[in-house]
Amino acid sequence: MPIFSARALEELAFAIARGWGSEEAEARILARHLVEANLTGHDSHGVGMLPTYVRLFREGLLVPNRTLEPRADAGAVLVFDAGRGVGQKMAHDAVAYGIERARALGAAVVALRNSCHIGRIGAYGEQAARAGAVFVAFVNVADHDPIVAPFGAARARLGTNPFCVAVPAGPKEEPAVLLDMATSTIAFGKARVAHNEGRPVPLGALLDRDGRPTTDPGPMVERFEGALTAFGLHKGSGLAIACELLAAALTGGQTIVQPMRHGIVNAMLAILIDPARLDDPERARAEMRAVIEWIRAAPPAPGFDRVRVPGDPERESRARRLAEGIPLDERTLQEIFEAARALGLASSDLERVLAEKR
Ligand code: NAD
Repeated sequence: MPIFSARALEELAFAIARGWGSEEAEARILARHLVEANLTGHDSHGVGMLPTYVRLFREGLLVPNRTLEPRADAGAVLVFDAGRGVGQKMAHDAVAYGIERARALGAAVVALRNSCHIGRIGAYGEQAARAGAVFVAFVNVADHDPIVAPFGAARARLGTNPFCVAVPAGPKEEPAVLLDMATSTIAFGKARVAHNEGRPVPLGALLDRDGRPTTDPGPMVERFEGALTAFGLHKGSGLAIACELLAAALTGGQTIVQPMRHGIVNAMLAILIDPARLDDPERARAEMRAVIEWIRAAPPAPGFDRVRVPGDPERESRARRLAEGIPLDERTLQEIFEAARALGLASSDLERVLAEKR
């Protein structure tokens, strides 16, 4: 499989975002976000999303160069409408406002509505943690067919509604714990990868069109037939429903029951807290580090090499991929080139960008 440096892929993504008209700052934020998703091992949210974004742009469902529209400002509560803007920029800006308010007031609640796909939610947890803030976010996914069945249902009723918690207890910038997850058992992108590789998905992750467990991802990937299950039985299903209500229904965002235009619309309700307002920050940091080390020091169960906390797998992936490069399969690369051609960009120019920075 071809391997690329983070820099090469960032320049590729940057060129494509410039191709659809994003200003430099927006294109840079998007490109960095996508490559960071690849680095952390979440290829489903990396540069492979570019063909989808080009389609959304061409259908008017992703709008470059939007600025956030404030819809309410009650001091500790901020509501923004993103007007289907480039999600990675819209969410980045909304979280930046939240950080400012949390610093001034101790805590802030930020609601972001009507944003095009905001990508890997962990990126915003990292942004908050770098500024010293605790971050909790509920996100929903609307504007396209539901693909996740709530507990006990034979049909899909929800998107993969992600949830994220970031805690800045690390020595410096990075969150000590970064829980960042879809509320489906497996992400749709992971079902797609399994299907492309001819592999089954784990039993319990997928239901067929009659609501029976299946391991064949084909019908879901090819026709959205059947449903992904919510993770963790009734408990994970409850969290998925909470994401739908808190992120969208409560905030004027688009819910899964509203008419769709077959884009990807995320709404997010983020809570930011300045930890220094809760307790002595040094003491709290030391205690959190002690808890994390206590967990990591547990003897591994059979089949496990060691015990990790949320965020560890991403850290390991980042270190490995920074050193060894990011694999990108030929099919995804061709899809990116094809999408770029639709924007009037020549494949030879993109190949040059990739070759120069390799
Ligand atoms: P995942 O299952 O790979 O990881 C989920 C969480 O579990 C992470 O915090 C990870 O650090 C942790 N984890 C994984 N293995 C672990 C281990 N062995 N020990 C301890 N912790 C471990 O992630 P996912 O649910 O497939 O989500 C992938 C990405 O998709 C996320 O970044 C999410 O934000 C994103 N997403 C985005 C949207 C959207 O609409 N924008 C929707 C769904 C998901």
